[in-house]
Amino acid sequence: MPIVPSRSDRDPTTLDEVPFQELRATLRGELILPADARYDQARKVWNGMIDRHPAAIARCTGAADVIQAVKFARRAKLPLAIRGGGHNVAGHAVCDGGLVIDLSRLKAIRVDSARQVARAEPGVVWGEFDRETQAFGLATTGGLVSTTGIAGFTLGGGIGWLMRQYGLTCDNLLSADVVTADGELVTASATENTDLFWGLRGGGGNFGVVTSFEYQLHPVGPVLGGLVLHSIEKARDFLRWYREVAAIAPDALTTLGVFATAPPAPFVPVQYQGTLMVGAVMAYIGDFADGEAAVRPLRSFGPPAVDFVGPMPYTTLQTLFDTAAPAGMQSYWKSADLDRLDDASIDVIVEHAIRTPIGLSAVHLHHLGGAVGRVGLSETAYPHRQAAFTLNIVGLWPDPAENARNIGWVRAFFDAVQPHTRGAYVNFLGDEGEDRVRTAYGPNYERLVALKTTYDPTNLFQVNQNIRPNN
Ligand SMILES: Cc1cc2nc3c(=O)[nH]c(=O)nc-3n(C[C@H](O)[C@H](O)[C@H](O)COP(=O)(O)OP(=O)(O)OC[C@H]3O[C@@H](n4cnc5c(N)ncnc54)[C@H](O)[C@@H]3O)c2cc1C
Repeated sequence: MPIVPSRSDRDPTTLDEVPFQELRATLRGELILPADARYDQARKVWNGMIDRHPAAIARCTGAADVIQAVKFARRAKLPLAIRGGGHNVAGHAVCDGGLVIDLSRLKAIRVDSARQVARAEPGVVWGEFDRETQAFGLATTGGLVSTTGIAGFTLGGGIGWLMRQYGLTCDNLLSADVVTADGELVTASATENTDLFWGLRGGGGNFGVVTSFEYQLHPVGPVLGGLVLHSIEKARDFLRWYREVAAIAPDALTTLGVFATAPPAPFVPVQYQGTLMVGAVMAYIGDFADGEAAVRPLRSFGPPAVDFVGPMPYTTLQTLFDTAAPAGMQSYWKSADLDRLDDASIDVIVEHAIRTPIGLSAVHLHHLGGAVGRVGLSETAYPHRQAAFTLNIVGLWPDPAENARNIGWVRAFFDAVQPHTRGAYVNFLGDEGEDRVRTAYGPNYERLVALKTTYDPTNLFQVNQNIRPNN
């Protein structure tokens, strides 16, 4: 085998010397190299701003391929990225000049309806997972957009419509099969490799490649869901109202405060279409009569300009945001947690949210609490159990010529609101530097460093919100 320089001293012009043909010979799946006609499509991720050129993309067909790819990248000292659903806004599913372990073809899902458990492979996206589990009237906490991958999502935490009733997605993870940095396949659960199991529930892709996830399911659906919207002039009063309503919401009710451009939908009066509005999206999981009572306070501020709340299949709820988040747009986000929505933070949020560029950009306030907050801070790697809200400033626009304006809006907003915040959600982070990574892992950071030092001492898995090993 030709000598291959280390990750840090690699000269990209010598990549031809990397013996990819040896890797190809060991794979059941495909190996896509830059000369391949499929290469440009295969290196694309959800965020159209990401334009990385891997040396090779290994489309794995199972754990055996993943083991070969991990061992190869380690031997060749290549940068290594892991692709699940490819939705990570920082583009961590791809890397420049290294190997991508592409899991997107791993789509198997098996539901055991008697045990209310599902096993799913890491290329599955939430729409696929929900379809299979809903065939049995079951679900677990999943993403608000159906094309998001279950893999990166689960490993970072997992905020979704079921979370206040049933916890984050990572709280519903029962076990995971993981290919570690030395190419071993291990199972992590409450009884096996418990230290690793702890780290997988919030520590992201730092510890290995997950080839199978096992989830707890719950009886779910149909649900009471939808949204209310108000004209933007009411933003400050609405957020103060929303704060009070959220504080008394039952666990079965999960809500999301929003600033967004009203779509040209039939349920939006024509004078509001294309204007920036404030409001809340909601989902009640349970009996409709109880749900009507639970959502009444949210609907009674007003009257709302738009009130589109009613019974719907869970799979419809899970796709409500799909058209608002198309793949291939330019995307830049900043996010942070709030312990409370006090008047001062509302003032700052409103001052900047009313400048949300018309189009796909939006501001989200995810209301946490409920089952999320009843898990102890050190029980899982996800640490933000006591936060009341996760704020996400979502810049999303089609034209790269508009990058400076849109990024400027997100940054100015974030700089102003940051003093009112604490913590950050790892799945909403961009490439924002080590301090922000530490903020995201919060008080669990040192324990995560110790775990990383045990499982990945050479930091093979570093194309992520990276926890550096201690050596
Ligand atoms: C449109 C959109 C909507 C979203 N909605 C929500 C939401 O409702 N709630 C929420 O909590 N988050 C949401 N997110 C954020 C989402 O959780 C993250 O983007 C997450 O990383 C997506 O997982 P993925 O598998 O698609 O990502 P990828 O980009 O494929 O991977 C993300 C990270 O996970 C690692 N990874 C992926 N697969 C594996 C694996 N099998 N083993 C080990 N590591 C792996 C990768 O190395 C990478 O670092 C949303 C994102 C987008 C773009």
